[in-house]
Amino acid sequence: QAKSAGKNGFRFYSRAMDHAVERRAHMEQELRGAWERGEVSVVYQPIGRTSDGRILGAEALLRWQHPELGTISPAAFIDVAEQSGLIDQLGPRVLRQACQDAAHWARECGGEPPFVSVNVSPRQLRHGELPGIVAECLAESGLPAGCLHLELTETALISDELQAGVLLTRLHGSGVKVWLDDFGTGFSGLSHLRRVPVDGLKIDRSFIADMQRDPDDLALTSAIVAMAHSLGITVVAEGVEKQAQRDLLAGLGCDLIQGYWLGHPLAAGELLARLSARS
Ligand code: C2E
Ligand code: MG
Ligand code: MG
Ligand code: MG
Repeated sequence: QAKSAGKNGFRFYSRAMDHAVERRAHMEQELRGAWERGEVSVVYQPIGRTSDGRILGAEALLRWQHPELGTISPAAFIDVAEQSGLIDQLGPRVLRQACQDAAHWARECGGEPPFVSVNVSPRQLRHGELPGIVAECLAESGLPAGCLHLELTETALISDELQAGVLLTRLHGSGVKVWLDDFGTGFSGLSHLRRVPVDGLKIDRSFIADMQRDPDDLALTSAIVAMAHSLGITVVAEGVEKQAQRDLLAGLGCDLIQGYWLGHPLAAGELLARLSARS
């Protein structure tokens, strides 16, 4: 009996696997050409000063508007794009679009030029081409290098540490800012701060979500801010949804915030309107 259950179990498992594999293959096929069909766009989520909410820049986030499935989050398709190599086309396009949009904001909004923060996937760091692509995007848009932030996760740094270190040192030397994304969720956040030129880090939103109730999360957030500041590194808190979280973060001296409390991801034109409305 156990044997037959095992058999059925195996067959079931194997069928479920087939489904997952099929779904991925299907998604890959749909994603191919999605940009050319105009289904992929870039939206921008405001990032602002914790003390007074003044918007200083934005994070570029991919959106895929599928004709049947509706809007698909990058959380659901970035893996497929990464593993299939499609990110090699998508990544530079996002970068180019973000530089153009940010250069446009800088010309239109007045005040200090806003920054734009672009997510870079591990695969993009494993190629040697990134610095060349970045230089091209800056040159053709006219965006000052200091207004471009690249967001990397620890996974990106771990996957090929030496190569990543070399590339990031070159990029940093050209004036581009290097940010660590989802900080605190990996295994060795601190060691990277010694090997890679880091300008800023983004505290993962899982810490922020519970900081009002969980004293450990509050203590860790406070420690991250203090440690970063002692190294001259700027800190953003991600996923700030409530005034109470903003108030706590202001008390900790966290520099910047990002989250629904400040604003949802917006079209480039809407973000410009937010920038222009700054006093
Ligand atoms: P991320 O870089 O950590 O981006 C933040 C994510 O948190 C975004 O989800 C954003 O919409 C969401 N978020 C922002 N504020 C809040 C909040 O207050 N509460 C909650 N619950 N969530 C909030 P999104 O746009 O679905 O992106 C998911 C991930 O996909 C990103 O995480 C990033 O790792 C990746 N991604 C997005 N765009 C790109 C891209 O152009 N290239 C690469 N390589 N990855 C990208
Ligand atoms: Mg990010
Ligand atoms: Mg993040
Ligand atoms: Mg995150």
